[in-house]
Amino acid sequence: MWPSKNKNIDRMEFLLSLRRHGITDAAVLRAMDEVPREMFVSEDTRAQAYQDHALPIDCGQTISQPYVVAYMTELLELQSHHRVLEIGTGSGYQAAVLSRIAAHVVSIERYRTLAEKARKTFDRIGYTNIDVILGDGFEGAPNLAPFDRIIVTAAAEAVPDALTGQLADDGIMVLPLGPRNGPQQIVRLRNTPAGLEREDLIAVRFVPLLPGRAKEL
Ligand code: SAH
Repeated sequence: MWPSKNKNIDRMEFLLSLRRHGITDAAVLRAMDEVPREMFVSEDTRAQAYQDHALPIDCGQTISQPYVVAYMTELLELQSHHRVLEIGTGSGYQAAVLSRIAAHVVSIERYRTLAEKARKTFDRIGYTNIDVILGDGFEGAPNLAPFDRIIVTAAAEAVPDALTGQLADDGIMVLPLGPRNGPQQIVRLRNTPAGLEREDLIAVRFVPLLPGRAKEL
């Protein structure tokens, strides 16, 4: 990989860059510092693991840009007793970051290859509080609901009703909303006694949330 000195400098620069972009939550910065992103990217992009951009992973998907991972995690206002549902396991990186702050993470992925690879990565690092489910994230995990927090890491055109139905009272859901090739933005929903409160936040670019389990792979 790299000479170890460069690696440390890369990781210091990585954290500084998150701070510079406005990430201030200490628990989020600590989790971003702790999770080895190089274990979640493919062999040939490993040298870029600590640069602030998205990278390709298997099945034509992407591991999100670190800033966006940190930003969405911060928006969740996670507490250590929370149970979190993630839709779109991908490489498992976002789930790993969540798992360093919350009590338990359930993550759903529609590609078998990605679900299995992420499970192996968690085993290798020793993260034991993440369950990966192979399935359709549009349905959520009704048998495990309600969840204190829900995060979707693929873009939906509209908020999936099944997911808001699995949000605990006072729960928070964060997701990218928007068309496949058009403008998308991060949206935060809060489940209040008066109903769902919505905030529209930064512009982003995510792969689409697709219905059903993937047929191949
Ligand atoms: N959170 C990931 C980024 C994932 S990219 C990471 O940290 O690496 C989005 C992922 O959502 C892809 O792996 C894609 O296969 C998955 N996905 C898309 N639609 C889905 C659905 N309906 N159910 C479950 N996963 C879905």
